[in-house]
Amino acid sequence: AKNQIIEMPSLMNQLFDDAQAYNIDYGHTLNLDIDSHCDLIGSDMELASAFSNLITNAIKYTPKGGTITIGWHDDGESAYFVVQDNGIGIDPKHLPRLTERFYRIDSDRSRRTGGTGLGLAIVKHVLMQHQAHLEIESKENQGSTFKVVFPKERLSFPE
Ligand code: ATP
Ligand code: MG
Repeated sequence: AKNQIIEMPSLMNQLFDDAQAYNIDYGHTLNLDIDSHCDLIGSDMELASAFSNLITNAIKYTPKGGTITIGWHDDGESAYFVVQDNGIGIDPKHLPRLTERFYRIDSDRSRRTGGTGLGLAIVKHVLMQHQAHLEIESKENQGSTFKVVFPKERLSFPE
């Protein structure tokens, strides 16, 4: 992955604007929760597309009128990109295979919602290139939290 310094607060605002445009058809409440000034070292194109897949998934897989929060946090050691929704959730039995290519949960909603099932496979690949990993917490009919954890070597704290 190309090692650019990605200004995260600015990328987060850009992702939020894109999310608001995509959300027009869904009418969810979107929240932006940034409490880190930390920047990322990596490929801005690749990471932006990975983040954007997680955000559009949260929007797509949440019934109308949901709430989706996009966050950027750090604890001085690691940094976290988080997307939380209160949508359809994921049965734990699907989690091990969820990031495989073309894997889609065969729910009514997945069948009705356009997509190829490649998104999370690409996310996983991009994260691997950045020594980052994905943590998924989900409860069926309650919602999901997708958390991307970046190690210290990928962070840049502005003066
Ligand atoms: P694509 O991203 O290629 O357009 P997709 O969104 O169906 O298609 P992935 O992003 O790889 O594919 O997601 C795989 C599957 O995981 C989805 O089809 C859906 O069943 C499930 N999924 C992903 N994100 C969520 C979420 N936030 N809530 C519930 N289910 C989800
Ligand atoms: Mg997707």
